[in-house]
Amino acid sequence: MILGDQLCRRSPVLERARRGEDVVWMAEAAEESTHVPSHKARTALFLAAMRHHAAWLAAQGWRVDYRRLDDPGNTGSLGGELLAAIRRHHPRRVVLLEAGEWRVAKMFEDVCGAEGVPLVWLSDPHFYATRDDFRQHARGRKQLRMEFFYREMRRRHGILMEKHGPAGGKWNFDAENRESFSSSGPGGIPQPAGFPPDDITREVLRLVEQRFPDNPGSLRHFDWPVTPEQARAALDDFIGNRLPQFGRFQDAMWTEQPFLFHSRLSAAMNLKLLEARDAVRAAEEAWREGKAPLASVEGFIRQILGWREYVRGVYWLWMPEYATWNALDAQAPLPRFYWTGETEMRCLREVIGQTLEYGYAHHIQRLMVAGLFALLAGVEPRQVHEWYLGIYVDAVEWVELPNVLGMSQFADGGRMASKPYAATGKYIARMSNYCQGCRYDPARATGENACPFTVLYWDFLMRNEGELRRVPRMEMQLANLRRLAPDARREIRAQAGRVKKEVCV
Ligand SMILES: Cc1cc2nc3c(=O)[nH]c(=O)nc-3n(C[C@H](O)[C@H](O)[C@H](O)COP(=O)(O)OP(=O)(O)OC[C@H]3O[C@@H](n4cnc5c(N)ncnc54)[C@H](O)[C@@H]3O)c2cc1C
Ligand code: SF4
Repeated sequence: MILGDQLCRRSPVLERARRGEDVVWMAEAAEESTHVPSHKARTALFLAAMRHHAAWLAAQGWRVDYRRLDDPGNTGSLGGELLAAIRRHHPRRVVLLEAGEWRVAKMFEDVCGAEGVPLVWLSDPHFYATRDDFRQHARGRKQLRMEFFYREMRRRHGILMEKHGPAGGKWNFDAENRESFSSSGPGGIPQPAGFPPDDITREVLRLVEQRFPDNPGSLRHFDWPVTPEQARAALDDFIGNRLPQFGRFQDAMWTEQPFLFHSRLSAAMNLKLLEARDAVRAAEEAWREGKAPLASVEGFIRQILGWREYVRGVYWLWMPEYATWNALDAQAPLPRFYWTGETEMRCLREVIGQTLEYGYAHHIQRLMVAGLFALLAGVEPRQVHEWYLGIYVDAVEWVELPNVLGMSQFADGGRMASKPYAATGKYIARMSNYCQGCRYDPARATGENACPFTVLYWDFLMRNEGELRRVPRMEMQLANLRRLAPDARREIRAQAGRVKKEVCV
């Protein structure tokens, strides 16, 4: 059995199977696009990549049973399709790689359990650390922090290491990864490699438009890699053209520049069209050959070998309870503009606008614009999680949920991030040009043109002061809060009430 995010040609599932004898089963299911409303590009990417993979398998002589979304009798759910497949083929056992989502794993266990068919899970070799490796790492630790895990991974796998320690004498060049652009902007950035749809993908695009006309997002710009060859070309393009500047401007944002120096490789890696190891190796080689500075290369590798591996470990350590945590007891509904981009806040209009166009936003846009607003407005974490899970082309729950619940919404009370990523509009003003031409003023917390981020930042601190007192890294922010006079507090509270009523609808 091969799932939509397991499209590696060297999968252990294939290594264990007998070509021409065993059935390779794959299925498209409408429910995967509707259990949370999915961006059309996300659905299209999964289906196009799956269909290309199935065509490759068939060409290699595998017996493929591929259920298409529009096949007669498609039950619409992966569980329903698996049940039908078991009754069709009467397998001795069902073999698959660990699923990327707790819900899906449970569904398969239930179906196979009820049918009395053994289900064999194979460990997923596409990650540097197995789930057990991470459990070992977590054992006995009071706090889990990415940085310590990352160093362990660097050592264990000998990545960016020199004789006496980390390359360049430092584990982390984060401080060099936070530049913003000057007022003239990023200048000419080489266009990232795109992959115009072929016949298979075009058919999928038509199907998605027809089956999910009301789902969010556009297919206008669809040019994501859908085969391993394309994913490799996308990697080479990034390493050659954008990696050298990636580090410096990793956190920067600019209007009408959705990709800047980012790699656009997350979806290809998550679907296993591209090996994370190949991306890490290529980046390290670029540094060793003098083609990219260490700060850029370390910044890129930290995201993959550090964050990506760490969030996967955290997800499997804490699921299924993880999805229910709400440490700050946030209960507000997700504002409607998350689905339309229609808001006067220019930063959110830009970020959500490009998200709807491409199914893409880079890390800081997700964390410090879309996520920050939801945090400050006190949106219920489950609703924020469902939005992120549906709206980005690279969203698979093992990576999305910890980033949303843990890093962005502080819903785990600090088990993952050492403090909430709470900031005023001034952070956005520093890192982008969004505030220029916005109707609001990022420096103001009260008055007609007060920036909603800034207003809600103070309101967030006031609302959660009790809970945040036990977070050591919040001390400075709370000290600033304590300096606010009672009148100022009252005024901000009133303004926050208006923002919630007028802006967060
Ligand atoms: C609220 C929120 C939700 C997110 N949801 C997802 C998601 O559903 N799927 C997803 O793949 N990433 C997610 N991320 C992480 C990150 O934003 C994306 O991986 C990145 O923006 C993808 O674009 P890129 O390939 O151009 O990345 P680059 O900026 O070029 O980074 C290189 C690679 O590093 C990895 N990476 C970077 N940051 C992270 C991170 N925080 N966690 C895990 N891997 C990381 C990705 O594989 C990425 O391709 C989320 C981050 C936040 C803050
Ligand atoms: S002023 Fe506030 S709302 Fe407007 S772009 Fe800046 S941060 Fe966003």
